[in-house]
Amino acid sequence: MHLFLDAEQREFQRHIARWVDERLAPQADALDRSGEFPRELFRELGGLGYYGVLYPEAYGGSGLERPYVYYMILCEELARGSLGFAAIVGMHASAATHAIYSWGSEALRQRYLVPAIRGELVGALAITEPNAGSDAAAIRTRAVKVEGGYRLTGNKIFTSNGTIADFVNVAATTDPAKRLKGIGLFLVDAKTPGFKVSRRLEKFTTHCSDAAELSFDEVFVPDECRLGAEEGSFLNAYKALTVDRIHTAALALGVGRAAYDAALQYAKDREQFGQPIGKFQAVQFKLVDMLAKLEQARLYTYYAASLADEGRPITQEAALAKIIAADGANEVCQKALNIFGGYGLMNEFPVQRYLRDSYFPMVGGGTSDIMRLIVARQLGL
Ligand SMILES: Cc1cc2nc3c(=O)[nH]c(=O)nc-3n(C[C@H](O)[C@H](O)[C@H](O)COP(=O)(O)OP(=O)(O)OC[C@H]3O[C@@H](n4cnc5c(N)ncnc54)[C@H](O)[C@@H]3O)c2cc1C
Repeated sequence: MHLFLDAEQREFQRHIARWVDERLAPQADALDRSGEFPRELFRELGGLGYYGVLYPEAYGGSGLERPYVYYMILCEELARGSLGFAAIVGMHASAATHAIYSWGSEALRQRYLVPAIRGELVGALAITEPNAGSDAAAIRTRAVKVEGGYRLTGNKIFTSNGTIADFVNVAATTDPAKRLKGIGLFLVDAKTPGFKVSRRLEKFTTHCSDAAELSFDEVFVPDECRLGAEEGSFLNAYKALTVDRIHTAALALGVGRAAYDAALQYAKDREQFGQPIGKFQAVQFKLVDMLAKLEQARLYTYYAASLADEGRPITQEAALAKIIAADGANEVCQKALNIFGGYGLMNEFPVQRYLRDSYFPMVGGGTSDIMRLIVARQLGL
């Protein structure tokens, strides 16, 4: 269903869908098994210009006037092939690069944003800490002003792209008592002394996208690598995360679609009691319920993206999109697993990967309950 897509957007969708079918999907199971960062694929997609969807041509970007619907198409299609790979791209091509584009100097944009858009550098965004997850204002990583810059000391956890990143945008506080208002964003080059990947965490979801624990021991960050004001700039980044929520919704939609497509085909192919299992009403009802969830998620996610394209604030819509798409896709994947019977539990069928991966959008970018909290505040509760 293409209610929100014009002819150019549909053409964009056809191109990225072909790349996913020919290049990403055939490797997705192997990537899930190895858990390795697919550097070649990452560079290839960068070479095709897809990391520039949100950025002007001057930096190698696409120069789109209304980029968010395009970005949703990209995220949905990639996640249909591999949510792990899509999560790498999503973190890189919006969350990590957006701060440099929005608050970095021209020199910083040339040094990091331009090669990142080409896929030559990988970016990450590190906010979460062992004791500060949903409560981001509680972060303890300190930024102490010194001559010519800052010294950062602290620890981050769950940083996507953390083990492979060439640069990490780090949220650090100059004054913990000021909570969110005391937090700034700092670009740390991964080659800087004192920066260390403490460990790569083992997880059951999105295997080829890493989650790292990072440590910062008096890491020197020059003044020019501060992204925005010394204090309070994280509030801007926090607002930007609102838009990232719709890309996470699109990731959920993509994996839900993959699970639905696989289950529909399986229901037509698999025979029991002398007929395809899709002839049994119980299976039909599951498939129809799955489709209903996906259509709802698609309509609402693209609606929120089109509002973002109009420059409208989407705090409530982005949170609702993430709830509808992430929780909905997880339900779709559970039903898909059920339709596959015992084969659903076998690693040779990707449906178990879809289900495992569908948990990521329910947490990444804020849990579904935190999204509910955001909407409740918007309702004045
Ligand atoms: C695979 C993965 C990749 C990630 N990538 C990144 C990344 O690149 N960069 C980054 O900075 N972070 C990243 N994160 C971190 C992610 O944003 C956090 O995990 C998330 O915000 C939740 O924080 P937490 O895990 O500490 O859970 P907690 O905040 O401890 O929450 C635990 C439970 O309590 C609930 N809860 C907490 N507070 C409230 C409240 N006020 N009201 C109601 N319920 C509440 C939550 O909904 C949840 O169910 C990633 C996480 C994962 C799993």
